[in-house]
Amino acid sequence: MMFETNRIFYSGLKLDRTSHLRKDKKWLETTLASGRARMIPFWKKKHWISTDTSHEMNQFSFLNKGLHTIQNIEIAFLGTYNSESFFGMDFSAYEEKKANKILGTGEFVDLRMTLVLKHSYYAPLLTYARALFQWHENHRFCNRCGRPTASQEAGHIRVCTACNHTLYPRVDPAVIVLIENLSKHGEPRCLLGRHRGGMPNMYSTLAGFVEPGESLEETVKREMMEEVGLEVHNVRYIASQPWPFPSSLMVGFFAEAYSTDLILDKQEVSEALWFNPAEIHKLVSQGELILSREDSIARYLIQRWVEENLKH
Ligand SMILES: [Zn+2]
Repeated sequence: MMFETNRIFYSGLKLDRTSHLRKDKKWLETTLASGRARMIPFWKKKHWISTDTSHEMNQFSFLNKGLHTIQNIEIAFLGTYNSESFFGMDFSAYEEKKANKILGTGEFVDLRMTLVLKHSYYAPLLTYARALFQWHENHRFCNRCGRPTASQEAGHIRVCTACNHTLYPRVDPAVIVLIENLSKHGEPRCLLGRHRGGMPNMYSTLAGFVEPGESLEETVKREMMEEVGLEVHNVRYIASQPWPFPSSLMVGFFAEAYSTDLILDKQEVSEALWFNPAEIHKLVSQGELILSREDSIARYLIQRWVEENLKH
């Protein structure tokens, strides 16, 4: 069913992050040496995918047999799941060929470009590893004194080697908003915009980053005024999504506009149109309307709104 509300991709894994173990050096060493730790290889924004399809988990991870001792890899403890311990393993310091040779049969792929990984039950675990290693990659130097930093606490902080300043992984919140309006006849409509530089028939919700000193609701109101010139009310939180491409947290809202008169910021939004739920359903099935990518929370918000409003 096209408009069955989809799940939110990249969230929902029941991994126990067991953060108390990050400082337990003895446990970490013993576990890594035990031959039972599951390693998730990573290389420059890509995950390793193996040709071993005997179990879904074997496609993107392997049981460690001494690989943790090789030079120049970064290891991060991710957590435990079903009594297995998961570690991310970053090979970015190596040439791709060399990393592949160490790992055996497989290749490095972008999570979002592969159906196998993107739809995997374990996709949230892979995005977690990706987010963490991208943060490491971007924080190799101290933001106070400029000297090199080093990974500590099993890959969950970096500490400056000169001034001891501690850096913590961060996420950047952004709001993503579906604006709705009731017509004179009480018929619900929602506003979808075509983003500048996007595909001709692709329409989506509107979005923007949270600025310093703002609450999420204030960001929603400011961004909607800036992008489409609408004052919005009744701002309702719906759902959120980790979006580690590279480090966002998407916070999804529905908001209501009393007016339908738009003033577009053409730098951001080329065109914006009001659609009723039946129109969205029909245009999508005819291929005349393309919604945001299926793994985005924008798609989730639109599908959820259509599903809720088609029932009435
Ligand atoms: Zn420093």
